[in-house]
Amino acid sequence: MIKENLQQIKSQLPEKVTLVAVSKTKPIADIQEAYDAGQRVFGENKIQEMATKYEELPKDIQWHMIGHLQRNKVKYMAHFVDLIHGVDSFKTLLEIEKQAKKHNRVINCLLQARIAQEETKFGLEFSEIKAILDSEEFKQLTNIKVVGLMGMATFTDNTTQIKEEFTSLQNLYDELQPNNSHFTTLSMGMSGDYELAMECGSTMIRIGSSIFGARNYFV
Ligand SMILES: *Cc1c(COP(=O)(O)O)cnc(C)c1O
Repeated sequence: MIKENLQQIKSQLPEKVTLVAVSKTKPIADIQEAYDAGQRVFGENKIQEMATKYEELPKDIQWHMIGHLQRNKVKYMAHFVDLIHGVDSFKTLLEIEKQAKKHNRVINCLLQARIAQEETKFGLEFSEIKAILDSEEFKQLTNIKVVGLMGMATFTDNTTQIKEEFTSLQNLYDELQPNNSHFTTLSMGMSGDYELAMECGSTMIRIGSSIFGARNYFV
């Protein structure tokens, strides 16, 4: 079914939208099946799980870290990660910079914005994002490249609310883009809301359960 699910989703995507197949908790065999169907971009939310999968799978996979980052674990992915979606503090950017330098790499990052009205611990306020991008300390970083923004809408059936939240992020992105020439990526949309996200200008959707089926956290 993985192949059919992928084809079904891909057939709906405009060319500018990148599909990240979110394979967290899923076994190697499932990822290999998606790979064999042509998928090359995969997302994980735990650094060590991603590092293990990286070791075992073909090396032309682009691995995206989509989860909350523990700074002390950044070192386990610095040599291979392609894009880090969930950067939500300047301290984390500094750690990524440090680890990227060790490997002589420039690591692409997205700043995670808090757009959900529900209580969430993660994500930067819009004012904090602007302050980071404007700061001299940020401009001196050489081994990270902030290529855009990421956000997660409230988990709700209320499509008006979801659209409002995505639109707020789209507006921020459009405001920042002219002064941030590296900006190419607006990561928003998951299985339940990616169509709405694309209506609001998403260029990268992160889809797990609609490709791989429901996750079982108890195995
Ligand atoms: C798990 C996860 C997804 C994918 O969720 P689905 O609803 O299974 O598509 C997307 N983004 C983030 C940050 C996630 O943690």
